[in-house]
Amino acid sequence: MSFFRLDRPVQFLKGVGPVRAEALGRMGIVTARDLLYYVPRRYDDASTIEPIGQLEIGADVTAIGRVRSKGVIPTRKGLRIFQAVLQDDSGMITCAWPGQPWLERKLQEGDLLLVAGRVKFFHGRQLQPREFTVLARASDDAPTQMIEGHIFSTYPASEEVPQWVLRGLFEKNLGALLTEVPEEEYLSGAERGKLSLPDLAEALEALHRPSSMDAVETARRRLAFDELFFLQLVQAQVRYHETFEKPGLVFERTNELIRPLHEALPFKLTDAQARVLREIYADMGSSRRMNRLLQGDVGSGKTIIALFAMLLAAESGRQAVLMAPTELLAEQHARRLKELLEPLGLSVYILTGQLKTSQRNAVLGALRDGTALVTVGTHALIQESVDFKDLGLVVVDEQHRFGVKQRMALGERENPPDTLIMSATPIPRSLAMTLYGDLDLSLLDEMPDGRKPITTLLRYPSKRDEVHRFVDEEVEAGRQAYIVYPLVDESDKVDLRSATEEYERLSNEVWPHRRLGLIHGQRSSEEKDQVMRAFLAGDLDVLVATTVIEVGIDVPNASVMVIEHAERFGLSQLHQLRGRVGRGAAKSYCVLVAEPGEVAAERLKIFRDTSDGFAVAHADLRIRGQGDLFGAQQHGRDPILRFADLSRDEGLLMEAQGRARALVEIDPELNGEGVTRIRGLMDHRYAERLKLFSVG
Ligand code: ADP
Ligand code: MG
Repeated sequence: MSFFRLDRPVQFLKGVGPVRAEALGRMGIVTARDLLYYVPRRYDDASTIEPIGQLEIGADVTAIGRVRSKGVIPTRKGLRIFQAVLQDDSGMITCAWPGQPWLERKLQEGDLLLVAGRVKFFHGRQLQPREFTVLARASDDAPTQMIEGHIFSTYPASEEVPQWVLRGLFEKNLGALLTEVPEEEYLSGAERGKLSLPDLAEALEALHRPSSMDAVETARRRLAFDELFFLQLVQAQVRYHETFEKPGLVFERTNELIRPLHEALPFKLTDAQARVLREIYADMGSSRRMNRLLQGDVGSGKTIIALFAMLLAAESGRQAVLMAPTELLAEQHARRLKELLEPLGLSVYILTGQLKTSQRNAVLGALRDGTALVTVGTHALIQESVDFKDLGLVVVDEQHRFGVKQRMALGERENPPDTLIMSATPIPRSLAMTLYGDLDLSLLDEMPDGRKPITTLLRYPSKRDEVHRFVDEEVEAGRQAYIVYPLVDESDKVDLRSATEEYERLSNEVWPHRRLGLIHGQRSSEEKDQVMRAFLAGDLDVLVATTVIEVGIDVPNASVMVIEHAERFGLSQLHQLRGRVGRGAAKSYCVLVAEPGEVAAERLKIFRDTSDGFAVAHADLRIRGQGDLFGAQQHGRDPILRFADLSRDEGLLMEAQGRARALVEIDPELNGEGVTRIRGLMDHRYAERLKLFSVG
């Protein structure tokens, strides 16, 4: 049984019978609430609506009038034009719809029409509407409330449920529905005041009948806050469960290893690194479990952070592991850790599939008896039933392949370790907070000094020969290059063939004198590994790849990244690829080959001119929108975020997260009397939508 009156079927509203209820259902309007939260697709400000008598030839206008007369006029060329004369208090104008004689049956004399378009001169003034809407039918009670307001709301309509029907439904029901809204208000007047948000009823009224465009924005912010707050509330509960309820570890800092590493480092930590390290040490030093996501652009210095975190664990006599998504990356990490730790007298162990049985058994033994304090491996290191004596810290490199489930599995161990997840794919803070609201977030938003900028170039396909010559010159100078083709989807055979064919063509016709390698998603991991190793060793000059090249792979000698069909990649993906070069002493280049349409051209130019990964990610979010944010998790008609806009609502999101976390820390199960309504909304109103974010 439902908790709120607004959950009743839409069928019980005025003007809705069983047939219309079904039609509304097909538009996603099933309950009274669905109607109340049905978002207009556009608003027309009355100040932009002009009296018909004053419409000027040449102007682009929006006007409202009643249909006084209508008819279909044939032309000599056989085109049939529907015409209607619209009238308001100030005058009349002819509207014409060439080639749409069927409107004759749709529009009636007396209908109230909103039209938008350019006024032309044709036997007097004529308007050919770009867009029009029937605001009310002749048969409806004349001029309605909705039209007297200053702003006109236009809804997404369907053939079955046209605009005027929707407007009629709001006309008949909005007032009554709004009286039911206060029972769902969960913010007190004082809280709303602090957040500068209107009350819910006021917001919903303004959604449909705004007095100004500012009121629309204020309403949107309120409704956005609600979405963000309840999403954060579920995540805050997961966080509470993982962070506070699990037995935590308190790591004791002796500086026995940390100080020598500080002294041995050839550089000083950046301010961002120092800040992030303080955040991590505070988590590890407290009795609660660490569940932290560390975001930092390629090259921002995450490995050092991981290292210091592992040293704190080691100082307290507990074991720490660093997990990488591939063996190659694990080996790369192990090499770097060894360079820094072995001088301090600390051994670094590595566990991968490459080990011989005897070596493997030795490492397993060291993990079991606790001698292995610092170990590097792939995800298998902890997924397999490897025995640890006292596992204190798990650092995961790259969160993308390390999903929520794997994270949860870590927490389910008998003595769950502290967890630090590192991601080299910068995403805007708002997005990270939304997708990973159950984790605490640290940002490395500063690059170490002295990074050489990578030059990014845009080239049309017609200049491909030049690009190839350039690559050849770099190879001649002893460097290496990547050529990347898009692969929209692993099963996209056409793309796959084109890349393979291109590889053949490049090897045989363009660079017969060079050594080329090919990597794509359908080669076995041994094959990929072999090719990558050859490239790393300098045995290949050019690496042709269809899928994303191993994230994080470090080939300092590679100085050119050519990306074909660059317009088909997201900006963040392009940034990832660009990060594969610029790692050595040589000047590096990223060349985007694209036939850009206007939008793509704009996007790619932003990319060319932006080197900061977070700025790129933000531009990507702004340009692409958050539409496919939750991927498969988002079920069609009921998106998780309809009002919130993560490219602008970061402040609101911070408030929502702060409130949600504070509430849950005081009352984890939300049992208290003061939060009955919030609990009710969680269980009834948001349950379905938020299922994906909650655990078990
Ligand atoms: P990430 O893992 O974030 O891509 P790394 O940790 O691999 O970055 O660091 C990239 C390079 O920068 C490494 O060679 C590292 O030694 C160096 N580095 C890290 N921190 C600093 C710093 N504060 N100043 C100068 N160089 C740094
Ligand atoms: Mg702790």
